[in-house]
Amino acid sequence: MAGVQLEHVVREYTMGRTTIRAVDDISFTIPEGKYTIILGASGAGKSTVLNILGGMDSPTSGRVTVNGREISGFNKRQLTEYRRESIGFVFQFYNLMPNLTVLENVELASQICKNPLDARQVLAMVGLGDRLNNFPAQCSGGEQQRGAIARALAKNPDVLLCDEPTGALDYQTGKAILALLYDLCKKSRKRWWWSPTTGRWRRRRTCSFG
Ligand code: ADP
Ligand code: MG
Repeated sequence: MAGVQLEHVVREYTMGRTTIRAVDDISFTIPEGKYTIILGASGAGKSTVLNILGGMDSPTSGRVTVNGREISGFNKRQLTEYRRESIGFVFQFYNLMPNLTVLENVELASQICKNPLDARQVLAMVGLGDRLNNFPAQCSGGEQQRGAIARALAKNPDVLLCDEPTGALDYQTGKAILALLYDLCKKSRKRWWWSPTTGRWRRRRTCSFG
């Protein structure tokens, strides 16, 4: 079944004698193609859920299914492939490579996967067509986040996960980034998730942007 399903997902971290239950038996379903936002207090477990959905972490127990594939049962190799081919991830602090231009950052990501989109086209789509040769330090925060979104989108992934993508931005710039994500979601008809702002989308290889 397409979409995202979490069934009785638990994630515990054990540190010495202390066990922290970051995610406590959560279950939910997201049907294909819906734009979804996860809201919760700091420490509620939002990033943990995103990391599990992104294949960067695994649940202690419970089942996670993405587009019919049970990722909670994946081994390390399968998770690596899943992260590479199926997931785009946008972080609060952009995490662009400082010694590469905006274009090179996007090209680097698209070179590792099988069906990438054209880096220049994706950058134009996020409004960075005239910043291709800028280094991240020569970009504003909002521009860097647009670059990070382009980098994630260029992989043409099934799911885009954004963990507080506006958290480091001022209100107006954050609003513009949210508007961009929403617009991209509608255009691509893919699924988006985010925590306070996390996007989700579904795969559509034939999608065209902008
Ligand atoms: P949120 O993103 O909602 O702020 P997190 O998912 O980051 O929350 O964290 C949920 C809880 O799990 C917090 O109490 C946090 O300290 C704990 N936690 C998260 N990751 C780890 C980890 N790798 N090791 C130990 N505890 C962790
Ligand atoms: Mg978090």
